[in-house]
Amino acid sequence: MPGTEPTHSPTPAARGRVAVVTGASSGIGAATARRLAAEGFDVVVGARRVDRLESLAASIGARALPLDVTDDASVTAFAGALDRVDVLVNNAGGAFDAAPVAEADLDSWARSYEVNVLGSVRLTKALLPALRASGAGDVLFVSSTAALISYEGGASYTAAKHGVHTLAETLRLELNGEPVRVMEIAPGMVRTEEFSLNRLGSQEKADAVYRGVREPLVADDIADCIAWAVTRPHHVNIDLLVVRPLAQAAQHKVAREG
Ligand code: NDP
Repeated sequence: MPGTEPTHSPTPAARGRVAVVTGASSGIGAATARRLAAEGFDVVVGARRVDRLESLAASIGARALPLDVTDDASVTAFAGALDRVDVLVNNAGGAFDAAPVAEADLDSWARSYEVNVLGSVRLTKALLPALRASGAGDVLFVSSTAALISYEGGASYTAAKHGVHTLAETLRLELNGEPVRVMEIAPGMVRTEEFSLNRLGSQEKADAVYRGVREPLVADDIADCIAWAVTRPHHVNIDLLVVRPLAQAAQHKVAREG
C-alpha cells in the first residue's frame, strides 16, 4: 500500500568512511580493524606498540598511528593527524588485578580508570568535532558484562567498566538531535591472548579462566558485532549489545566440561 513502506536513512557506504580503532595492536581491536577494513572502511589503528600496529596496518591496508589513550599529548597528536573521522571504536582497555576491595591496590585502580574510562573520554572529546562534521558519525564503546554486574575480586575493573557504561548513556543523551550515534558492546568471556594474562599475571592462571569452557567467544565474534552495529542504517542506534558465549549464562554461571 502506498505510504506504508518503511522509510529509513540509507546505510552510509563504508567506502570513503574513516574508522578509528583504539587498542588495535591485539585481541578485539586488531580483529575489529581487520573486519572494518574488509567491509571497506578506511581504517586508522592506534595503540602504544607501534611495531605490532604497523604490521597489522600493512596487512590490511590501514594507517597506523601511535596512541596512548592515557596521555593528553599523545591523544592531541593522534587527533591532529586525522582529517576525517566517521567511526570511533573506543576499544583500548583492560583489567589489571583480581584483588578484593579489602586489598585494593590503588595504583591498579588508577590504571584501570585511566585506560578504560578517561582514555575513552579523551578520544571521544578529541574526535567529536570530526564525528559531528561527518554528518553520520558513530562512537562505539567496548565495555563488558562487567559494566552491568559486579563480582568478587573484580571491583577495579567492574567500577571502571560501569563508568564506561554511564559515559555511553550520558553521551547519547547529550548528542540527542545530532547525527552521531552512541553504541555500546558489552562482551562476556572472550578468549584473547593478552586480556587474562595482563589481569592475572601468569599463563597458567589465564588458561584456567577458559578451562573446560566449550567455545568461549573469540575476538572475531566481537568484531562481527561491531561491524554489524556500525553498518546499520544510520537512524538505527544499537544502544547496548550484550554478547556472551553459549556456555556462559551469567557471570557466575559458566558450563565447564571435564
Ligand atoms: P587485549 O589486552 O588483547 O587488548 C587491549 C588493547 O588495548 C591492546 O591493543 C593494547 O595495546 C591497548 N591499550 C592498552 N592500554 C592502552 C593505552 N594506554 N593506550 C592505547 N592503547 C592501549 O584485550 P582484549 O582485546 O581482550 O580487550 C579489548 C577490550 O575489550 C578492552 O576494553 C577489554 O576491557 C574489553 N573486553 C574484553 C573481554 C575479554 O574477555 N577479553 C570481555 C569484555 C570486554 P598496547 O598495549 O599496544 O597499547
